[in-house]
Amino acid sequence: MAHVRTVKCPQCGAPVRWVPENRFRPFCSERCKQIDLGAWASEDYRVPTSDEGDPGEQSPPGRSSQD
Ligand SMILES: [Zn+2]
Repeated sequence: MAHVRTVKCPQCGAPVRWVPENRFRPFCSERCKQIDLGAWASEDYRVPTSDEGDPGEQSPPGRSSQD
């Protein structure tokens, strides 16, 4: 007798059977998985770009490696 573990879908709270056949674990369905992935993607979008440098500060004074 196999004891199937059940978890709650992080997205909608529905019971999810923790079995290898369920490839959407820990989500209950592909839809919930996609929603979560979408949330992650939008979080990623907020990562600041490295374009913050002032345009006028390109050459540091006093240090010329090339003449
Ligand atoms: Zn769900």
